[in-house]
Amino acid sequence: MSHSGNALRLPVKNDLGFFEIRMESIGGLGANVAGKILTEAAIIGMGMNGAGFASYGSEKKGTPVKAFVRICEADHKVRVNSPVEEPHVLAIFHEALAKSVPVTAGAVPGKTTVILNTRKDPGQARDFLKLQGGKIGTVDAMEIAMATGSRVNMVMMGAVMKAAGFFEWKAVEGAVNEQFGKKYAALMKGNLEALKRGYDEVEFREFPVDGRYPATPFRREEPRLGYETAPIGGTIYSVGNMRFKDLSTSRTGMIPLFVEDKCVRCGECDITCPDYCFVWERGKDPGTGKDGMVLRGIDYQYCKGCLRCTWICKFGALLPAKEAEQDMEKITVKHRFLK
Ligand code: SF4
Ligand code: SF4
Repeated sequence: MSHSGNALRLPVKNDLGFFEIRMESIGGLGANVAGKILTEAAIIGMGMNGAGFASYGSEKKGTPVKAFVRICEADHKVRVNSPVEEPHVLAIFHEALAKSVPVTAGAVPGKTTVILNTRKDPGQARDFLKLQGGKIGTVDAMEIAMATGSRVNMVMMGAVMKAAGFFEWKAVEGAVNEQFGKKYAALMKGNLEALKRGYDEVEFREFPVDGRYPATPFRREEPRLGYETAPIGGTIYSVGNMRFKDLSTSRTGMIPLFVEDKCVRCGECDITCPDYCFVWERGKDPGTGKDGMVLRGIDYQYCKGCLRCTWICKFGALLPAKEAEQDMEKITVKHRFLK
């Protein structure tokens, strides 16, 4: 049953009768919730049928997350519950994820619209993601989220709505309200503004399949290591491990900035940080002149950008900032014993 009494039809669908969306993200950016909102908007607000679900590992900020949305017309039954392999819309919430996860797998030119959260234009995004061709959209979701006091997921949802072409504003707004209205009523204005700006500001361009990059077919991942091939000692090869210490793929795009002259060396940030990022050294306390431990700065190679330290510091000595605008080499203070 449609909300308006007319059966809504999808503009395009795959062989099984579905319009499919895949969102590639990391924990903390809200892809899971975005998928849920779009699914609810289509089912409850627009009278369609569908399913929304997500796949993720440990539930913490910075770990890869995939959210899937599968929409069909009201008279069609949902009999598929596998991950979306070749989506109509592929939304990549976190640019750095492309370094470690095959986010573009299953993108098919002529079928898939790829949307990237980035400051790049669509041409640069195509080269960055090495896409074979097709329709590519870019939007600076982090910037818009900050300006509106909302989150990346709202902006990306607006961009997905534009690419999909059939979501109704009233239905999506209703689902956003259902999700956040009661608990975070004060944030609703910013959320809706972010949604609208994502819709309005996503920039699309179409690229021919010109042989510049090969196709990226979807492959079901086989476990890379098994009982015959696992290295002795359980070595982990992926980024973010003890050897490479590259946590940039799991950072949300935000970092804490240390303002040394505001710091009173209370140590609250150090207790709060889950990743031991704060570098303390013995020195003279500038306030009292006495010998003691002094906070020198942040070792960003361990920082995942959760910003908890900025919330806990009552003295304005840790401020949230955009990673892309900082010279990370310059502001990183390395732990002395790890230099
Ligand atoms: S919480 Fe703020 S004031 Fe306290 S040590 Fe950390 S940066 Fe300094
Ligand atoms: S944002 Fe702050 S609390 Fe979070 S990992 Fe980085 S330094 Fe630690």
